[in-house]
Amino acid sequence: METRQRDTVVVSYGEIGTKSSKVRGRMERTLVSNLEAMLAARGVDADVERQWSRPLIRLRNLEEVDAGAGRSPATYRTLSDDAADAVANTFGVVAARPAVTCAPEREALLDLLSSLADDQAAAESFAVRVSRAGPKDAHDFGSRELERVGGAAIEERTGAPVDLDSPDVTYRVEAREDEAFVSTEVRDGPGGLPLGTQGTAVGLVSGGIDSPVAAWEVMKRGCVVVPVYVDLGDFGGPDHEARAVSTMRRLATFAPGFDVRPRVVSAGDLVAELADEVGATRMLSLRRMMLRIGETVARDVGAHAVVTGESLGQKSSQTGPNFAVTDAVTSLPVYRPLLTRDKTDIVAQARRIGTYDDSTLPVGCERVAPSRPETNAALEDVAAAEPDGLLRRAEKVAQAVRVVEFG
Ligand code: ATP
Ligand code: MG
Repeated sequence: METRQRDTVVVSYGEIGTKSSKVRGRMERTLVSNLEAMLAARGVDADVERQWSRPLIRLRNLEEVDAGAGRSPATYRTLSDDAADAVANTFGVVAARPAVTCAPEREALLDLLSSLADDQAAAESFAVRVSRAGPKDAHDFGSRELERVGGAAIEERTGAPVDLDSPDVTYRVEAREDEAFVSTEVRDGPGGLPLGTQGTAVGLVSGGIDSPVAAWEVMKRGCVVVPVYVDLGDFGGPDHEARAVSTMRRLATFAPGFDVRPRVVSAGDLVAELADEVGATRMLSLRRMMLRIGETVARDVGAHAVVTGESLGQKSSQTGPNFAVTDAVTSLPVYRPLLTRDKTDIVAQARRIGTYDDSTLPVGCERVAPSRPETNAALEDVAAAEPDGLLRRAEKVAQAVRVVEFG
């Protein structure tokens, strides 16, 4: 007898589909290997196939589950939930649907839809959506026809009405030539592009709320982000580093198989000197020092850009004119994915991706800030007030970067 349990996860991607066939093929292969790494990192026993160019996850150990004592719908549900969770956390994926496999035939599908309807007794309304792939005569039903008769069968079973505009539950049938997949649940993925398809950047990560979100956004677009924490000495401390490393650990769960171990650069002496010697433009020199550190590590790890969590007008050093002054120290592009984002929105995203920390430790560099910081600096004035050789010495400390193992 055919299994009625969820044995696959159907994966949908978005922007990859708009690429030329050559680029798309390469991105699909990267997506498949990233999905494999994500499933393995989470201990989900599953195979990733490329079917009709789209990845399909098949749970692997179902026969063993069947053979053992634990054969129950709940077991299948947990396995497919874990697999769908892994898929929905993989960059490039738009949707993950835990699905039941079935023969792509009218009677079998009607039968399956009715049996799935029994689990959806509480739903107040529903819709059936059918799509078919393969030769025209591959199926003994038409898509619209199956939607109609399937809908009637479900309505009879549950008493719930069809609502095509905002259904409580959508029964989605994807019929291919050899098999069909039926799902009633969808998990949204992050979208974006597969990690590793857009090279590498260095991310300046402070352990505050913004910078991990910024790194995540750049990772979402397919760029691996090597995180760098700058130890500010007396203005920072072990608790700051520990927090930064813990957010980096969380970020790394989105990048299994890539070397995103934390890099730590000790800049305490330079920061102390800045605090002693520089007045209103101190924060700008601090940022310039950090960007030069980022650039130096970037050259070391083969990265093409530096990412920060800065947002327009959030702090005195984050005004338009000041960005021009800070960016002058690097020839690499500075990515500021949060430039236009409001703090409330950034906080909400940090909670969603699991990098939010509600301790009140004042991280970032606010403890270094002077009482009247400059918001409209001129490059010459900032450079003139800077301690001798600040940028050259920033490069030097960055060359002594320390790699932290997650252990
Ligand atoms: P967050 O890191 O969440 O932005 P914050 O807003 O308090 O915390 P800012 O002082 O605004 O930090 O710093 C702006 C940006 O500079 C940060 O987003 C981060 O990219 C970088 N940065 C600040 N402090 C450090 C640090 N100690 N190590 C690495 N990068 C840092
Ligand atoms: Mg900030």
